[in-house]
Amino acid sequence: MLRRLLGRPCRKRRSRFPADRQGGRKCRKRRSRFPADRLDLPDGVLDYDIRASDCRRLSLRLDAEGQLTVSAPHALSLAAIREFVVSRRGWIKAKRALLAEAPPPLRLENGAALPFLGGFLELNVVPRTPARCRREADRLVVHALDPYAAHRTLEGWYRKTAAQYFAERIAHFAPRVGKAPRRITVRAQRSRWGSCTSQGTVSLNWRLLQMPAAIVDYVIVHELCHLLVPNHSPRFWAEVARLLPDWRERRRALRAAGRALRF
Ligand SMILES: [Zn+2]
Repeated sequence: MLRRLLGRPCRKRRSRFPADRQGGRKCRKRRSRFPADRLDLPDGVLDYDIRASDCRRLSLRLDAEGQLTVSAPHALSLAAIREFVVSRRGWIKAKRALLAEAPPPLRLENGAALPFLGGFLELNVVPRTPARCRREADRLVVHALDPYAAHRTLEGWYRKTAAQYFAERIAHFAPRVGKAPRRITVRAQRSRWGSCTSQGTVSLNWRLLQMPAAIVDYVIVHELCHLLVPNHSPRFWAEVARLLPDWRERRRALRAAGRALRF
């Protein structure tokens, strides 16, 4: 599995949107005893959410919006949680600095350069219905009446294109790995680039299509190798290295590209 975000989330996924977190029925069920806390530290105020979870250990997560969440075992006291957060001040500061360097979200307007497999497609928005998207050489022509519709339509195009592209690359690598997935799904997970189940389903994030092909190949090979070795043991990395001797550089590039994503 390849995680996307900066922190180490607990097993359960959560929405990145604060509104969902506070209002969602599902989430309310798992609300923590201390929904939020604030620490007044010498170098500034630190606000964070607390999630009581089934995890046995404390963990911190900083999402793309800079929201900090501590996942803590149910029985842990607030004092212990605070002590943990204070002990991780350096980590939080460093990750926040990385976030601050991240580019602003892309404005989906005429002429915008949409990253696509290492290159760019020029966005051409036509205010027309029904909403649709088609590629014309190096341009993506989107029919949409407002930015929301443009975003949704573009994402739809990326997802469809991703499904095709991933299937081709998997067909290329599977014989070399010696195992093919039973199913391939394209997802929009916020916290992962790819994952693989014991039933043989490989899931990949459509946003990978905004990255160079060499990085996409790394994620695909990584997940295909999990069909052979489900963990990250030396045997797993040996398999990855057999196919992609430069996997380390690709993994580094994936992290950088993930931070630079704008849409
Ligand atoms: Zn993995």
